[in-house]
Amino acid sequence: PYDVLVVGGGPASASAAIYAARKGIRTGIVSERIGGQVNDTAGIENFISVKRTEGPKFAADLEEHVKDYDIDVMNLQRAKQLERKQDFVDIELENGATLQSKSVILATGARWRQLGVPGEEEFRNKGVAYCPHCDGPMFEGKHVAVIGGGNSGIEAAIDLAGIVKHVTVLEFSPELKADSVLQERLNSLPNTTVVTNAKTTEITGDDNVNGITYIDRESETEQHIELDGVFVQIGLLPNTDWLGNAVERNKFGEIVIDRNGATNVPGVFAAGDCTDDRNKQIIISMGSGANAALNAFDYLIRN
Ligand code: FAD
Repeated sequence: PYDVLVVGGGPASASAAIYAARKGIRTGIVSERIGGQVNDTAGIENFISVKRTEGPKFAADLEEHVKDYDIDVMNLQRAKQLERKQDFVDIELENGATLQSKSVILATGARWRQLGVPGEEEFRNKGVAYCPHCDGPMFEGKHVAVIGGGNSGIEAAIDLAGIVKHVTVLEFSPELKADSVLQERLNSLPNTTVVTNAKTTEITGDDNVNGITYIDRESETEQHIELDGVFVQIGLLPNTDWLGNAVERNKFGEIVIDRNGATNVPGVFAAGDCTDDRNKQIIISMGSGANAALNAFDYLIRN
């Protein structure tokens, strides 16, 4: 059995596994895809001390660093069940194997919900973005749309309004869903427009995004806006369905953790985007991976 088994292969996992391995304990990583979301990222400019890097390069660097340690890496494997047994936590894989560990760190990350319209895939990282903290500064002085009028959409719009020239919010429903304090704040800004009842049908472009097409659901007419970027803010889905009721999750499906990264199940910790930590960023997921590993080690020496 492992002392620490990390499920997931992104930044949180790499950091957790390295911190655990540096204690000289038996450490494993089981993951669908080493690198995680970073594989899909173009430029990264907010990993402090590295002024700029590319996502795939960052993912390769993560893997390289992990390989420097005595860590069992089981790549291209998906966990499908977690069960707390007497002395161990069992992780059952889709390939039928079961791994046993004295402690487990869940770091299965999350994925952005996609619009599923033409142009979204094609212009990903060419004007289509999902993370205002990551990509907002690249649109300085430009016109962007935010799709989604929930809290994350309106927070993104307020954030972006401070950087870009103009923000147009497109919401499918007749009303915004965001908290009224956020809506009031948005309405107080001079460079924002809200369009409700808007069903986005296409993101247009040549080399990069140049506009967005939507149907005005009230007049049933097609509309087009010329702009330079589109931030899709219709939800971030944690990769936690496989856990079922084995650990406590909140209404968004995020794993509930305390400040030690501990879940409600003894010996089971979690880190990064799959948790209820509010902010989802590489540097934050790495910090929480380290924190979870150190507290898993503390758990091991006490049990
Ligand atoms: P993830 O990176 O999501 O990794 C989780 C891993 O677990 C994945 O490899 C997944 O395949 C695997 N997994 C899932 N379920 C299972 C399972 N059942 N069994 C085994 N493995 C499983 N952040 C920044 O700080 N700066 C940026 O510039 C930036 N840009 C971004 C751009 C894009 C397009 C995207 C999508 C995200 C960006 N982010 C950025 C966010 C950042 O990538 C995430 O915050 C970070 O990767 C979270 O790390 P994580 O380890 O928690 O999860």
